[in-house]
Amino acid sequence: MEKMLATIITIGDELLIGQTVDTNSAWIAQELNKAGIWVHRRVAVGDDRDAIWSALDEESKHAPIILITGGLGPTADDITKPLLCEYFGGKLVVDQKTLEHVYYLFEKVFRRPGPMLERNLKQAEVPDVCTVLFNRVGTAPGMWFEKNGVVFVSMPGVPQEMKGLMTNEVLPRLKTRFTAPAIEHRTVFTIGAGESYIAERLTQFEAQLPSNMKLAYLPSYGMVRLRLTGTSSDPVALKKSIDDQFATLCSKVEDVTVVTEDLTMEEYIARLLRESGKTVATAESCTGGTIAQMLTSIPGSSAFFKGSVISYAVSVKESVLGVPGSLIESEGVVSEAVVTQMLKGVLDQIDADYAIATSGVMGPDGGTEAIPVGAAWIAVGSRERVRTKLVQFRYQRSLNTQLTAINALNQLRLFIKGAPAE
Ligand code: AMP
Ligand code: MG
Repeated sequence: MEKMLATIITIGDELLIGQTVDTNSAWIAQELNKAGIWVHRRVAVGDDRDAIWSALDEESKHAPIILITGGLGPTADDITKPLLCEYFGGKLVVDQKTLEHVYYLFEKVFRRPGPMLERNLKQAEVPDVCTVLFNRVGTAPGMWFEKNGVVFVSMPGVPQEMKGLMTNEVLPRLKTRFTAPAIEHRTVFTIGAGESYIAERLTQFEAQLPSNMKLAYLPSYGMVRLRLTGTSSDPVALKKSIDDQFATLCSKVEDVTVVTEDLTMEEYIARLLRESGKTVATAESCTGGTIAQMLTSIPGSSAFFKGSVISYAVSVKESVLGVPGSLIESEGVVSEAVVTQMLKGVLDQIDADYAIATSGVMGPDGGTEAIPVGAAWIAVGSRERVRTKLVQFRYQRSLNTQLTAINALNQLRLFIKGAPAE
């Protein structure tokens, strides 16, 4: 079955100068992918008439679906709407439902005092050659055009508004208007082996994959996600064959597998803790609360996360966590003995089953010969048992911190599962 193609055009000078990161394209691409629609190209253009016009001309030659975001605001720099009106040969007319919604938003939701501005009322004008897509959260409606068998959808740049429109209006319409092949993804999350090393192991596996299946390597922060994607016009047969292939893939990376699902490390730790009914606390020096932040990013984290002592200063390690000053003096603040005491100290202060403690030098300065920049001691454990690990990274401060935090969570994972230390 032919792939159903779509191109995403994002509009805005802010995207070109890097002031706003184009998160819209990534989100739209993921949603299209789930719907079995392949993204052919992602194009970013400025708020510039010629650039937008030629992008519409060019992209509609290659894909039957063109999704556009941005340039729909009430200010003069946003030119997408009048341009689309001209491009599709229409004229601007007031859409009554949108006008009522603009009044409702300004009067009841934003509660703006004073009379309504002309430029805000103009948000309710739409080309008379489009289908208006209702935007519940904002003033700019979405617009659906068709020309020579190509569908063009224009949506506001504000991510929340675009997402609402995509979910409620655009995706359901695309599903009725086009028939896309079934698509299935399976992901295995690994840690402890580099992508090249894994690729060596999987050479034969990749060679025997059927032509409708592809393996993608997604490395980040020392972890590698392997995603198997298959497409077919027969959804039942696809499910069966991808499950078979995925089982083979998993058997080849079993020793480095965290979980055979598309989860983050913190999501997986959250699951482990929830399932066992256990809780965790952290005593963070060099990670400065990063581990606590990662764990509390999970909805419902109060079920398993108790709290944290960000014991950055030596004085806090002594006064709050009870690490003896003499130990810090003799062993050094970045040492196995100190993180072990930090862990015990936080478990004295916070009633949790497990704890994580970190102490390291994240850079760019402060390294010594014995403890260079990027080195950190990690302790994980319970009141009965503690295990420690020295890690060494060689990146910038923020990445060293991130990697230390993820490694600490991985150590906790291994501790909980009773696996040997890495
Ligand atoms: P606009 O529809 O051009 O008025 O866009 C309004 C705001 O949405 C911009 O100021 C950006 O902050 C944001 N925005 C626009 N395009 C994108 C994009 N592609 N990704 C993320 N945010 C965007
Ligand atoms: Mg704009």
